[in-house]
Amino acid sequence: MIEMRDIHKSFGDKAVIKGVDLEVRDGEVVVLIGRSGSGKTTLLRMMNALELPTSGTVTVDGLTYSSSNKRSQIAVRQKSGMVFQNYQLFPHKTALENVMEGLTIVKKMSKEEARRIAEDLLMKVGLQNVQHQYPAGLSGGQQQRVGIARALAMNPKVMLFDEPTSALDPELVNDVLNVMNELAKEGMTMVIVTHEMNFAKKVANRIAFIHEGQIAEMGTPDEIFGSPQTEPLKRFLNVIE
Ligand code: ATP
Repeated sequence: MIEMRDIHKSFGDKAVIKGVDLEVRDGEVVVLIGRSGSGKTTLLRMMNALELPTSGTVTVDGLTYSSSNKRSQIAVRQKSGMVFQNYQLFPHKTALENVMEGLTIVKKMSKEEARRIAEDLLMKVGLQNVQHQYPAGLSGGQQQRVGIARALAMNPKVMLFDEPTSALDPELVNDVLNVMNELAKEGMTMVIVTHEMNFAKKVANRIAFIHEGQIAEMGTPDEIFGSPQTEPLKRFLNVIE
C-alpha cells in the first residue's frame, strides 16, 4: 500500500531523514516508535505529501508523487486520512458539520447524503450523542474521535496517525485507542506514530524503531520488545520502562 524508497529529508542543512526504505502492506498496521526528534512525524508526513522528500520516492496505492508536481501530491493525499495530535477541527462547526465538510466540499455530495454518512461514522466512534456540539464543548478524546471520523469520511486507503493521544488527559486515551483498535481489526491499513508502547504492542503487525533519521530496527512487537538487537533500541526501551 505504501512504499518509501531511499528517502532523505533535510530542513535547511539539517538532515532529518537519512535513507529510509519502508513498505506497508495492505491491511497492515505499522507503528513508528523512537525518541523525540528522531524523525517519526517527518516520515509520516511524507506518506501523504504534507512534507516532501529531498530525494527518494513515495508510492501510495500505486501512485508515486513527485516534489515538483502539486497534482500528484494532492492525488496521494486523497488516498490517506490523517489524524493529528491537536485535532485541527473547525471550531465554528459542530461535530457533525466537521465530518460532513470534506464530503460536501471535496466529494461534492449532497448535504443529505453527507449527513447520513457523517452520522454513521460518528456512531462508529461512539459520538452519536454529541454530534451537534461544537469542538469547544467536547472533551479532547471526543474531539480526537471526531478527527478520526472526519478522516474516515473520505474513504481513505490508509489512515495515518500522528501521536493521536499525546495531547489527551490519561483517562481519555483509551477511548481513542479503542476506536483505532477497532479500525485495525476491520483490516484498515494504518501507520501510527505513538509513545503508547502497550498500545503499539497490542495493535501493531510490525514496529519500526526510528533512530537519528533511519530505521534502526523493524520487526514484530515480540521481536522489538522481546529481543531488541541494537544498542539504541535497548537504551530506548530501558528509558521508557
Ligand atoms: P516527536 O516525538 O518529538 O514528535 P519526531 O520523532 O516525530 O519527534 P520530527 O518531528 O519528525 O521528530 O522531527 C525530526 C527533526 O526535524 C527534529 O529535529 C525537528 O526539530 C526537525 N524538524 C521537523 N520539522 C521541521 C521543520 N518544518 N523545519 C525545521 N526543522 C524541522
